[in-house]
Amino acid sequence: MSRLIVVSNRVTPPAPEGAASQGGLAMAIAAALREYSGIWFGWSGQSTPEFTGELHTQTVNGVTVATMDLEEQDIEEYYNGYANRTLWPLFHYRIDLTQYERSFGQGYERVNARFADMLAPLIEPDDVIWVQDYHLIPLGRELRARGQKRDGLLPPHPWPARELILTLPRHRQLVESLFHYDVVGFQSEEWKNAFLSYVLFDAGGMALSDGRATAFGRTVLPKAFPIGIDAKSFAALAAAPEAQENYQRMVESKAGRKMLLGVDRLDYSKGIDERMLAYERLLNESPELKREIFLLQISTYTRSEVEAYQDMIARLDSLSGRINGAHAEMDWIPIRNVHRLHGRDELAGIYRAADVALVTPLRDGMNLVAKEFVAAQDEADPGVLILSRFAGAAAQMHEALIVNPFSQEDVADAMRRALKMPLEERRRRWRALMDGVEKDDVMAWRDSFVAALKEARTGAGKRRSRSTTTRTGA
Ligand code: ADP
Repeated sequence: MSRLIVVSNRVTPPAPEGAASQGGLAMAIAAALREYSGIWFGWSGQSTPEFTGELHTQTVNGVTVATMDLEEQDIEEYYNGYANRTLWPLFHYRIDLTQYERSFGQGYERVNARFADMLAPLIEPDDVIWVQDYHLIPLGRELRARGQKRDGLLPPHPWPARELILTLPRHRQLVESLFHYDVVGFQSEEWKNAFLSYVLFDAGGMALSDGRATAFGRTVLPKAFPIGIDAKSFAALAAAPEAQENYQRMVESKAGRKMLLGVDRLDYSKGIDERMLAYERLLNESPELKREIFLLQISTYTRSEVEAYQDMIARLDSLSGRINGAHAEMDWIPIRNVHRLHGRDELAGIYRAADVALVTPLRDGMNLVAKEFVAAQDEADPGVLILSRFAGAAAQMHEALIVNPFSQEDVADAMRRALKMPLEERRRRWRALMDGVEKDDVMAWRDSFVAALKEARTGAGKRRSRSTTTRTGA
């Protein structure tokens, strides 16, 4: 049986199975690595004065983890530079924020070559390689230059429209790198189609009838693989005693009011400011709702991110402060603005206590908060999901109230509708959403991508032998 090698930008050793702190993705990958006796490879997150090429290998809970340290210049140019300041804003349609320096691009290429140098000796002929991050787009090309053949890339972000990617210096080189993989996964058909439109109109390529695309003298299979969550575990977690305790605490603190909830990693793509402005509009237009509702906005960042996000934190705090100042009363505050990280069980309890979830990113590859919120609900009295049309999740979650996050009116209308929605409609919508979240869970997602990787190899073999036969017969 072939082994699975997962390559991530940063690898943190997996927590014990079922650990509350671990997210669904990390858990699903750790489980797959146990099943296929694979390796998880990536940057340790640590810096070293000079790149040594030393590999740290350890086996944690049945998973072999191999990491390397990067030098300061690598981290500055590859990670803080090209990945965070160039690709992330570009992939989230924010070309106004995109910064590009030649040194970023050079660092990106250099570190990808380092990944390949360190990884190539670990690969056995039958291994299947899954590259997870947009930090590693050129890795497929670098691995092929070192003789490795079977791999796929499945990053979690959106793919930008062709008009936007054209603003990136050396965009051709970036897209060409994708053609060195067997399979390139996208979180939704929409992102896949954006990629295809570049291939057709800017790279002079073609879409083939079997779903593959050809350009730059190479062929790749672009396909949508929408990521899911571990729905059953999350639902069980939400009903377990620890989450119930948090749920009870939250219910008491609601004091009979309805709670609208936002949970986001602090990022400009999440549309948190726009959401607060839409909420302010609701308070202005429907004063009768005051005192009846409040918004709990949890926007988290880690200590290492403080500097990068300083402006955003200041803006968010001042916006929520202004709205609170204008509308709060002696015994009622319209917005609870929280920056703390919560444990998974705490979060599950908070989701369950919410009446309305506001998942309104301006652009998001998928958005797992939407799926976690659904999985955590009480079937007898579920909350309502308001979901941005620009999150990858919107393509799967039709029974949510789908909104345009750029329109305060649209979002305020949806909030009004959600707050008044009758129980029967809430249950009907939730059931349909939950069926989808359970069916397309993280295990199904992971298995379908690994199967596509294996199939790509077999398919390529078949195609090669077919063309050989044709030639011989001719
Ligand atoms: P992104 O990958 O862009 O951060 P997602 O919504 O897909 O966005 O995933 C975010 C993940 O982070 C979810 O699993 C969510 O539960 C978790 N998360 C977000 N905020 C918090 C928080 N305050 N405490 C704990 N986990 C959080």
